[in-house]
Amino acid sequence: MDPRRLHRESIVFDAHCDTLQEVLAEKRRLGERSEEGHLDLPRLHEGGVTAQIFALFVSPNHFPTGAARQALRLLDVFYQALEENADQLTLATKASEIERAKAEGSVAGILSLEGAEALEGDLGVLRAFYKLGVRNIGLTWNLRNAAADGVDEMRSSSGLTNFGVQLVREMNRLGILVDISHLSPTGVHDVLHVSEAPVIASHSNAYPLCPHRRNLTDEQLEGVASKGGVVGVTFVPNFVTEGGDQATLKKALDQIDYMVKTMGIDHVGLGSDFDGFFHSKVQGLEDVTRLPGLTAGLVERDYGEEDVKKILGGNFLRVFKEVVG
Ligand SMILES: [Zn+2]
Repeated sequence: MDPRRLHRESIVFDAHCDTLQEVLAEKRRLGERSEEGHLDLPRLHEGGVTAQIFALFVSPNHFPTGAARQALRLLDVFYQALEENADQLTLATKASEIERAKAEGSVAGILSLEGAEALEGDLGVLRAFYKLGVRNIGLTWNLRNAAADGVDEMRSSSGLTNFGVQLVREMNRLGILVDISHLSPTGVHDVLHVSEAPVIASHSNAYPLCPHRRNLTDEQLEGVASKGGVVGVTFVPNFVTEGGDQATLKKALDQIDYMVKTMGIDHVGLGSDFDGFFHSKVQGLEDVTRLPGLTAGLVERDYGEEDVKKILGGNFLRVFKEVVG
């Protein structure tokens, strides 16, 4: 099996990047190839990516007021890029649009809120963001918000608030993916209990291989798998290996191996977090154009063709189809 051909034929689904912030800050344009950061449309094309989740991340300097505005500004940046690059980028709000993008050689952009701050505690705002195309929401970033606690709330970490429970239920009803990356341990437990739909962790690794608070324990990995969900292996160097110094493609493949062993082949995907980290890199995965090397690594480790396709994007597409439609 030729790994290059296999990569080209596969639906490659990356569940998290922070590139819109770079575009909003006018450091880069989505349609122009850059040597800076990790991805843009030309590099997504070269890396063979079919579907890319773009996070609308609202940093804490926009709390407690102004969070919705900041998310809307990021959304505006995405819609402007869509207009400017209509031949290369499409908005995907359902699974068939991802499949169509694959057929047409375009990148399917999927919109995600990273943190519920932008909802400002209001389910009506959630429904409006749904109408604007948002199909995935990470309930928290690292801090506490109206829905739940994030992983940094170590002093008195708790789980979903009453609003958080209502939010998960309304996301289930609308067809928005519930994303547990960044959530506190109790929050993860609560979401697995409350959500009626499969849940995802868009960008998290395995804690036993790299004990960082952002990574997931065996129990959490198994919990996501038992609900039919998917965990996206992330390339943040210090989530790949402790301290991040020795982060290499091989170590990222070790993370995939471990998750497949723990959760099963149907529950592992990719969630790079490209453009969400700046000062270090995973050797061999320096930017999105290196993704075909990951496929080659999987083939070398004796994953069969169907299994490689599941990891590259088949699993995330399955969950997207099931939850979003
Ligand atoms: Zn993140």
